Amino acid sequence: MSLTSFTLSGRDGAARTGVISTPRGEIRTPAFMPVGTAATVKAMLPESVRATGADILLGNTYHLMLRPGAERVARLGGLHKFMNWERPILTDSGGFQVMSLSGLRKLTEEGVTFKSHIDGSKHMLSPESSMEIQRLLGSDIVMCFDECPALPADRKRIEQSMRLSMRWAQRSRDAFGDRPGHMLFGIQQGGLEEDLRGESAEALTSIGFDGYAVGGLAVGEGQEAMFKVLDFAPGQLPEDKPRYLMGVGKPDDIVGAVKRGIDMMDCVLPSRSGRTGQAWTRRGMVNIKNARHQDDPRPLDEHCTCPACRSYSRAYLHHVYRAGEMISGMLLTWHNLHYYQELMQGLRDAIAGGTFAAFEDQFHAQRAEGDIPVL
Ligand SMILES: [Zn+2]
Repeated sequence: MSLTSFTLSGRDGAARTGVISTPRGEIRTPAFMPVGTAATVKAMLPESVRATGADILLGNTYHLMLRPGAERVARLGGLHKFMNWERPILTDSGGFQVMSLSGLRKLTEEGVTFKSHIDGSKHMLSPESSMEIQRLLGSDIVMCFDECPALPADRKRIEQSMRLSMRWAQRSRDAFGDRPGHMLFGIQQGGLEEDLRGESAEALTSIGFDGYAVGGLAVGEGQEAMFKVLDFAPGQLPEDKPRYLMGVGKPDDIVGAVKRGIDMMDCVLPSRSGRTGQAWTRRGMVNIKNARHQDDPRPLDEHCTCPACRSYSRAYLHHVYRAGEMISGMLLTWHNLHYYQELMQGLRDAIAGGTFAAFEDQFHAQRAEGDIPVL
């Protein structure tokens, strides 16, 4: 019997809802994964992240391999114990972050040599070393090592890069081996080109993975181009496995991606915005640093049940942001993660109930109204 599984329980159009089961717990899909880059979701305790409704976190291989080091994490009992998060963790392969170090890296068939952004020391990442690092971290969902070119890029470049990623996908699969209870996801590439995406999907499917990511999007192509790809890309991937859109996104990106058949997403946006005074609400984005909030005794969102909205006024949130107090990032991050998870629950319920279109209409209508009027 397999220790992991993916069960679909509802559909509405292309949208799906279900559960990924792992020995460390269930992941309700569509799922949003908060990003815990350096073994912490910045400004949040793990139990607070869980309280927002998150079933799974994302950790970054690139950051963790450099500091504190994967071997050290392994000696200390693995990433779950190290960061006090007992539920599932997905780790990326390190590829995306290494590729974004342009100037500091060298790409060959073997892998990527790069210099640490921390101390300039030289490192190598390959499919084999990425699998080993993710094994040492103890990740539940491991991502293949791939190359992701920035867009726009010409077709030839996208094609060569995709084929390299497919060779690396096979090497990742071989190096991962048989690890009951852990899942390995392949990553589809091919830029905005339907035929290249199709070729990539076929290559991955013939290797065989526990889940499939749509990679190479949310890299500067814009929402319209991304949705165009999502109109065909999820359908090229196996129906009975989870589909993960990497690095997405804003709330309206999420709704559009789920509508097109995506099951999992991750993004730094809710936590990063929380530290820069931006709150995501049903009525769109609220800039708490704006002077309009300084005398406003009302909560950020009167319907939100997060601690920031239950116990604090806009005036207070404005004040602590302006004063540079740490509680500002803590409260706004909590609110943002809570809002994102509430959005995911709303999407899951709407898909299960066959009311996705109505949910989507209401989502856009509320945002179109904008923030509550100034007092
Ligand atoms: Zn709130």
